[in-house]
Formats: sequence, structure tokens, C-alpha cells
Amino acid sequence: MAVLEPVPVTALRGVGPRLATQLADYGITQVEDLLFHLPLRYQDRTRITPIAGLQEGSEVTVEGEVRLADIVFGRRRSLVARIQDGTGTLTLRFFHFSAAQKSSLQPGTRLRCFGQVRRGANGFEIFHPEYRALETGETSGVSRSTGEEALTPVYPTTTGIGQTQWRKLCSQALGFLQRAQPRDLLPADSGQAFTLVQALQYLHAPPPDAPLDALLEGRHPAQLRLALEELVAHHLSLLRLRARQQATAAPALHVDRGQPLQQALLQSLPFTPTVAQQRVMMEIGNDLARPVPMLRLVQGDVGSGKTLVAAHAALQAIANGYQVALMAPTEILAEQHRLNFEHWFAPLGITVEWLSGRVKGKARQVATERLATGEAALAVGTHALFQETVTFHRLGLVMVDEQHKFGVHQRLALSQKAGSESRPHQLVLTATPIPRTLSMVAYADLDFSVIDELPPGREPVTTVLIDSQRRDQVIARVAHACASGRQAYWVCTLIEESDSLQAQAAEATAELLQEALPGLQIGLVHGRMKPVEKASVMDAFKRGELALLVATTVIEVGVDVPNASLMVIENPERLGLAQLHQLRGRVGRGGGASHCVLLYQSPLSRSGQQRLLALRESNDGFYIAEKDLELRGPGEVLGTRQTGLLAFRIAELPAHNHLLDAVHSIAHTLQQGDPAVIEALIQRWTAQREKFAEV
Ligand code: ADP
Ligand code: MG
Repeated sequence: MAVLEPVPVTALRGVGPRLATQLADYGITQVEDLLFHLPLRYQDRTRITPIAGLQEGSEVTVEGEVRLADIVFGRRRSLVARIQDGTGTLTLRFFHFSAAQKSSLQPGTRLRCFGQVRRGANGFEIFHPEYRALETGETSGVSRSTGEEALTPVYPTTTGIGQTQWRKLCSQALGFLQRAQPRDLLPADSGQAFTLVQALQYLHAPPPDAPLDALLEGRHPAQLRLALEELVAHHLSLLRLRARQQATAAPALHVDRGQPLQQALLQSLPFTPTVAQQRVMMEIGNDLARPVPMLRLVQGDVGSGKTLVAAHAALQAIANGYQVALMAPTEILAEQHRLNFEHWFAPLGITVEWLSGRVKGKARQVATERLATGEAALAVGTHALFQETVTFHRLGLVMVDEQHKFGVHQRLALSQKAGSESRPHQLVLTATPIPRTLSMVAYADLDFSVIDELPPGREPVTTVLIDSQRRDQVIARVAHACASGRQAYWVCTLIEESDSLQAQAAEATAELLQEALPGLQIGLVHGRMKPVEKASVMDAFKRGELALLVATTVIEVGVDVPNASLMVIENPERLGLAQLHQLRGRVGRGGGASHCVLLYQSPLSRSGQQRLLALRESNDGFYIAEKDLELRGPGEVLGTRQTGLLAFRIAELPAHNHLLDAVHSIAHTLQQGDPAVIEALIQRWTAQREKFAEV
């Protein structure tokens, strides 16, 4: 069979310049691209279901005779038609309708309709079914074939292109397969039941007897064949990214030059680093000494002491005469780092340059100048650091905390600042452990270091779930903890991104708590406060002058008050597991028993319940990360949904975890072979996403 040559989509019937432009937005310019625009799910329109056999939630085709059609004035005005098929009656309901539509639904008219079955007050209903009247001669009846020969695919689409249009386009593209076929790019012995072409044909037009369940769950061999290929392509694209990064030299930062400063830092601390911290410091030190850019990810549970590891690395770069940039995703976390580094580095004679979005005017000008001339050795800040106006004199090391809040492309943007002939080393710190499975696909361009040990004296936090109806009990608990000299957090959550709504909610809560606990010193922090105000409240809490701190999730990361032993989280069901784990990590830092109260709003959704139970069950960040992945999927866990980096077309994690070993070995095999095959694979599956990664 001939290889499918590039054919522009405009060669297809019905594709004019307008549609071609719309398709291009989906990354579809060639006929072959359409073949890889795969259905999200399927509808079974091949059979007529008797009304008596309907099940809530299923999508069905039903035929019946109209008995009555009327406009009903309920809470919403609607057109309601009732149809009968001899086994039962079904209600069709339209909230948007025309007069013509009503008059076309004359009693006696026979209809074929398709839609999702829901339960109404008087039996089953379908809202806005697709329907057509049957012709006079057309046979009707129940439990028989409709004449449709395949399951109906439902394609991913936004606006502009409808399902019918996608189906027409894709079926035309399938027609090309009779004459020429896309290249099978995987090694022949990949152990798959379906070939590439078989898989494409099957998934665009599954036969009527196709196992719908397996298809819906992504378990069908045809899906596995393509998922495998997609994961391989994705993995290879990350490896290529890594190779490109490492094609430019980095400064070799000698270990021995860093040692005097590093020793001085460690000696000034009231503790010794854990064995795990020491091991990771060594791994990083060795990387930095090589003239190849380090690309390393440090994982460690909340409180495992990643900041010290970062500081230790920074000293190696600074002692070698290079600059260091440390970037954090939020103002409050960046500020925490700044304070830590100032505290640790001032005795060593190293000053910290501070750069956040809020640093403006003269202060900003001075800071950027000191970085551009190389006068300042260390910059700490938010994403303000990778704005164009910020340049460095000799940037040797870039460190990014909480990587998953940034995309790969943002990290790369910062690494670009070293100038073209040299690239800085890159260190990524993540507080949320990344499940192994996910790290293979999402972070294959990085080496890993794991701090798998907490400093001594940390107590696991006991987590309890309490219904918000029993809020009074929780308030009493806060009073009790504070009366015995401990401190507490009360965290308010809102789904809205808006800072001002969050701030309002936190303010209201603080007022209510103050009324309920008049004798208590209560503080409030939220994202709308000025940094100085925030800092002064945090300081008062640290000094023990405030017993209770009401906060929005701004305290998620970085805040460190060992005497705080109780945390109440309101509406925890609104947050992801990782975020809850982060929040909870703010307590249990001082020795002694600590508690976290999840004050939930009932009724809990099933996934909300599972999330909270997982949190109650475990304090282990790795376990929680795996659960989070299972419950919410990789896009949410990594927070990179926006960038589309993990918007797989067919692969799904964790459903396809079992493919990952094969992904690894196939990628390895391909790397020994023709580079053009690798390019073709990446092009086929990730052309859209690559745009984001190429900074
Ligand atoms: P995370 O890994 O969550 O970023 P941090 O770096 O913020 O953790 O460290 C949490 C706290 O533990 C800080 O107060 C830090 O100074 C302290 N710490 C770090 N390493 C050790 C250690 N080896 N022994 C005791 N305390 C430590
Ligand atoms: Mg940290």
C-alpha cells in the first residue's frame, strides 16, 4: 500500500477557505491530520430501544407516535410532547422552540428521536432530543436495527464545526485509506493487536457490536495502539527538548570553590541537614560542576527542607562568580524565600535582590540595574523575573519553586536569560510529589532527586472530617487549643479566582469568629492586602501575638510557624488533594500533636468524599499525589491544563499507566534508529503543543 502523501484538507468536499481556517485552529491542515482527530466518545444509534427498556443516563434512539404536544408554563416555559411506542410513554421537552415546531408535532406523527434519558416527575424524559418524523412508508418498531451501521463518533470540538460536519470530514478522510495509508512509525514488534490503520478505522467507525464499555474506558486494543504511539511521541518530544537544552554549554561551577560558603551556612544553622538533604545536595553539586546545563527536579514532601537544598546550590554558583535567580509562583511564597535567604546569606555578605510585580518605579529600576550589571548575585521573586526588561550579567543557575504552577515554557523563558552562548543550570523544586507514572510523561526532560525523609521531630497530623453543621464544635476546639497556648489557622476557600471575593469571605469569617471568640487575638491575611500589611500580620502570628490566623489559601505555601498545631479548612471539598496536603503541611512542624479539621459542606460529591477520605487516611505526599492523579487526572494535578502540554488526544492517565514501560523501551529503540521517524512522530502527535514548548 502506498504511503499517504500530504493532501491539503481543501481537497475534501465541502472544505472552503473558511472551514480550512477553522480546521487549522485545531492543527488540522492535511487529510492525515483529520485521521488523528479522534472521537472523544461514541453514541449507539444502531438500535431502537423500547421505551419500557430505557435506563436513566443512557443515550438512546427511540421511536414512537406523538400522543400530545403542548406548551407548559412551569418554572420555565417549555414545549412538551409525549410519545408512545406500545411499551410505554416518553416525554420530550424543549425549552427553546418555534411555533412551527409545535405544529409539526401533531398527534399521530411518528418520530425517531435520539438523546439522553433523564428521570422526570412523570417517568422518563429527553431534553432537546435530535428527532425527525418518519415517512409514511417507513417501517417503525422497537428492538430493531435503525440501519446505522456503526456506532456514532462524537468528536472533540469547540465552536464553529458541528458533529455532523466532523463526521463527514473524517469519513472522507477514511476514504483515502483505501488508496494510501499513513506510515506506521512504531517498531514492528510493539506487541499490539491492531495496526495503525486498523486502529484509525476502528475508532472513527466502530462496528455496531463494538464493546461500548471498553471504548468509553479507553481499554479497547485500538485505543491502546494509538495511546501507546501518542505517549511515545510525547516522551520523545520531552527528550528532544532536553537534548536541545543541553546542546548549549553551561558554566562549570566548581564544587571546591563553593565549599567555604556552604560550610559557613551549614554551621550557622541550629540543625544538621538530614541524610536525604545531604544526598540531594551532593547530586546537585556534581551536576553543577559539569559544563552541561543541569536539568534537575527536586521532589520532597511538605516540610522536607527543600529551601536549604536550594540555598546550598545557590552558594556554589555565587562562589564561582555567577548569578542565581529563584522564582516562586506567588508573592507570599517568594517573600518567604526572600526572608529565608536574607537571614541565611547576610552573614555571608550576600545580598538578595527582590523583584515581584509589586516592585515598581525607582526600586524596580535599581533592582534591574543591579542584576544587569552583575552587582547583585541573587534575585528572588515571582514571574516578574522573566519579564523582558529583566536581564542578567552572568546567570549561572535558575531555580523554580513549585514547578507545577508554571509550565515548561516559563522555566525555559528564564533559562534563556543567560544569553545565547551559555545556558544556566536549572533546578526545579516541587512540593507536590509527582507520581512516577506522571513524571515519566510530564518531566522526562528532567533528572530526579528525592528528599525522602522529614527532619526529626515532625509529628503526623491527625485529620478529621466534620460537617459544617457542627461548626460550633469546631469553634470550641479552636478556643480550647488557643487557651492551652497553641495557635491555629482558619482557612477560607472560594472557588472564584477573584482576590476580592476571597478577601470578602475571609473578612466575614474573621468577624464571625471574633464575635464567637471575643477574648481571642485574631488576625487576617488575604491576597488583597499590601505586602507590608501581610508581613506585619504574619510576623505578629509568628511572635505568638495572634492566637488565630484567618486566611485565604495564600498561606498554602511557605508559611512556617512551629507553634501552630490546629488548622481548620472550610469547604475543603472545593480544593484539590495536593493543595489540601500543602495547606495541612503548615501544621505539625513543632513537635507535639497536631490536628487538621476539614469542615465540609454536605452533601459531598463522590469525588469530594474520596479526596477528603484520602487525606484523612494518609500524610504521605506520594500516596496523596497518586490518589489525586486517579481522581482528577494529570491536567489538574500538574496545573498545566492551560498550556495544553498534557492535553492528550487519546492517551489517558492513569488508565494507560500499564503502557508506560513499553513507552520507555520503544522510545529507547527509536532513538537508536532514524531521527526522521522521531520527528514524524512528534509532528503527528504534538505539533500543536510544541508551539508552547519552543520559547
Ligand atoms: P519545604 O520542603 O516544604 O519547602 P522548607 O524548606 O520550608 O520545607 O523547610 C521547612 C522548615 O524546616 C524550615 O523552617 C526549615 O528551616 C526547617 N528545616 C529544614 N531542614 C531541616 C533539618 N534538616 N532539620 C530541622 N529543620 C529543618
Ligand atoms: Mg518550600
